[in-house]
Amino acid sequence: MFCLFTLGLGSAARTAAPSQPGSPPSQVTVSTAAAASLQPRTEPDADFERLLRQGHAAYSRGEYAQAAAHYEAAARSNPASARPWLEGAAVWDEAGEPKKAVLWYRRAVQLDPVDDEALCALGWAQLRAHDLAEAAPNFRRILQHDPDQRWALLGLARAELAAAQPQQAVALLTRAAGASPSANIVALFLGRAYEALADQANAIAAYRQGVSADSYLLEARQTLGRLYLRARRYNEAFRQFAKVLEADPRNPDMAALLAKAQPLLVRAPTSDRPEGLHGPISEVASSPAFPAGIPVLRVGIGTTPLGRPRARQSTAFSSTTDFIISDAKTGKRIAAAKADDFWKVRIKRVKKRLSLELSDGSGRLRIMRSDPFLISPGSRSQGLIALNLSGTVQGTAATAEKLLRGEVEISLWHRTLRVVNRLDLENYTQGVVSAEMPIRSPLEALKAQAVVARTHALFIKTVTRRHRKQGYDVCDEQHCQVYAGARAESPRSRSVVEATRGIVVTYRGRPAHAIYSSNCGGHTQNGRDVTGWGNVPYWTAVADSPAPEAPLDAPWALHRWLTTSPQAYCQPSNFVHPSHFRWTRVVSWAELSRRVDRRYHTGRLKRLRTLRRARSGNINALLLEGTRRRVKVDSEMAIRDLPGLGSLRSTLFLFTPELGPDGKPEAVVFTGGGWGHGVGLCQSGAMGRADAGQDFPQIILSYYPGTALQRTDYAADAGASP
Ligand SMILES: [Zn+2]
Ligand SMILES: [Zn+2]
Repeated sequence: MFCLFTLGLGSAARTAAPSQPGSPPSQVTVSTAAAASLQPRTEPDADFERLLRQGHAAYSRGEYAQAAAHYEAAARSNPASARPWLEGAAVWDEAGEPKKAVLWYRRAVQLDPVDDEALCALGWAQLRAHDLAEAAPNFRRILQHDPDQRWALLGLARAELAAAQPQQAVALLTRAAGASPSANIVALFLGRAYEALADQANAIAAYRQGVSADSYLLEARQTLGRLYLRARRYNEAFRQFAKVLEADPRNPDMAALLAKAQPLLVRAPTSDRPEGLHGPISEVASSPAFPAGIPVLRVGIGTTPLGRPRARQSTAFSSTTDFIISDAKTGKRIAAAKADDFWKVRIKRVKKRLSLELSDGSGRLRIMRSDPFLISPGSRSQGLIALNLSGTVQGTAATAEKLLRGEVEISLWHRTLRVVNRLDLENYTQGVVSAEMPIRSPLEALKAQAVVARTHALFIKTVTRRHRKQGYDVCDEQHCQVYAGARAESPRSRSVVEATRGIVVTYRGRPAHAIYSSNCGGHTQNGRDVTGWGNVPYWTAVADSPAPEAPLDAPWALHRWLTTSPQAYCQPSNFVHPSHFRWTRVVSWAELSRRVDRRYHTGRLKRLRTLRRARSGNINALLLEGTRRRVKVDSEMAIRDLPGLGSLRSTLFLFTPELGPDGKPEAVVFTGGGWGHGVGLCQSGAMGRADAGQDFPQIILSYYPGTALQRTDYAADAGASP
């Protein structure tokens, strides 16, 4: 964690530490390889740059000692430059060698005494090395001329907290609070400081602030739950533990705490049903079902996060108009029902054979069959099908959990109910746009979202056919893209889908694989760099900024970039929450070690090492070194699932181990950017670009270079087809 800010010239008045160019710290030895590379001396600047680049390359492969050797050789080639020392120090930070980082940062500060970023980084390295007495004066030096510098305030507060001065820590952290990349961990340590003062009420308030600054800050939720438990606020404790368990389903501690809180609940916890689900349906306009020429999609409804049918034994359905039940294969009518009449279907076992048992609103058994059936509204343009996936039959169609256009097919699938919504691509796109992007987002961003949602569905249906085995084209979860049905529609969503009707992203005349993610962190990732993602020509790395910065492959540049809020289209705004762009997690080493051992049987975790870091800064392979064995982790999801609790928002992060008083790792801090895989269109960036005046073709084509936009004239196609 480093301090990043540009210092005014006035600060040069501070006393400069004497610099000692030339002599490297004794703890560091120059490797013979790096020394030899200096032998045929060419032009010094070229040498210097080449050595730096070699250092960056070694760093991106996790060869930390090699990288340091190259930087040291670079320092010899240009003894006046602080840069090699900063780069090397950042490497030692990641290597979990804060004592070495301290020596290197000190060299940088000696060479450039007015660089407060280096001074602050020195303070943090000293803090991580548990050298509190050395760290505090460096932070104080910065605060003398920049009293609001947040990283210095946080660093000094942590030093005070570690030195058992919680009152001073509270004062500093209160000053540091506020929206910034560090807001959530400021709140986390403020909570710890209040706990040290036995001030439970303020500790709770601070942790609450932490989780509202970043809902992924599960370490604060965990503590918050324990504090609520102690304060006998059982319902609130239950809620926090349940949230942690939801993010980290296999956490044994949380399961135990949840079990402890459950019998103490004052009343049953309120369900987690999303708000607005029971809203009026008066806003839902009529729309023709299955217009000629538009591709029909089969959408799996109520699927798991991996897009599979959820284990379900019953469901209830209705329609806003009279409806018909027919055989899904032959089309033969089986039954007819009135609007708002809730029917129920459940799986029934009769002599080892499973059947579908359909009963009407009065509970009377009407049909027993094992073949799939279809529910169709009597009026195809106005009727909506209502579903209660939980199987409850109460209420009217308007209050159902799901409202769907088109038709719904229900069938037996591996001893569970499979629910499939059949509807046309345009109506489907409506149900995705406002589920995937806030509907108040700028219009051109919503249009871009509509185009990529339409393209993505078409690509999955016709090219990858990933859900062929489950019997549908796309699922309704993030696995493909979130589809919320007609409930998510609004006049605004209709207008953006209509304005982009039939438009898809194409590559060489065919639908492109237009994947997207929530926030790229400021630079999208090349799909080729992600393990197992293949080589898609338009999944290139793009600077998502009106003023792109220098390449991020240098360790110090990457530190600077991730610890600040640099200019980017996806930076925090009215539409983008700060924690989606920059985030921090603080995980105890013991917790991380337990989780890694549980999953990979490594024994106690000794070290983390990057094996492959992309030029965009994303980590695509990590080595976990345990007492029992070493394990390489290289899948995108597995890397994000690494920390002690829950997952990380992305693979774009730095990790810096911190030592305890005994010199052993005590915690690890993850400092990251973005949310999601970062390949293809950046949803936050699309909003920023629209806000900056770009239209949807400009937005889309900047994220998928080499593609084109093409409009399908459905009606013409329909006329042409037999
Ligand atoms: Zn899917
Ligand atoms: Zn972005």
